Amino acid sequence: MPMLPCHTCGSDEPHRELNPSEKDWLKDRLVKRNVDNYRMCDAPGCRHVRTGFSPCAGHGDQHIRIPEPD
Ligand SMILES: [Zn+2]
Repeated sequence: MPMLPCHTCGSDEPHRELNPSEKDWLKDRLVKRNVDNYRMCDAPGCRHVRTGFSPCAGHGDQHIRIPEPD
């Protein structure tokens, strides 16, 4: 997994690709059809989403954390 700076953790953390249900959640949240370039922080309890280029998930200062699965 690539190490990327996580805005929430304040440090470099492993980020993984989203699984299908996480992608569906994020598509609804961002109103986007394609979220393939998004990565989620894999640190315990974090789940903050970023893109490969930006520490934030969206335009401006949009911080999104994917809910834990049931
Ligand atoms: Zn994090």
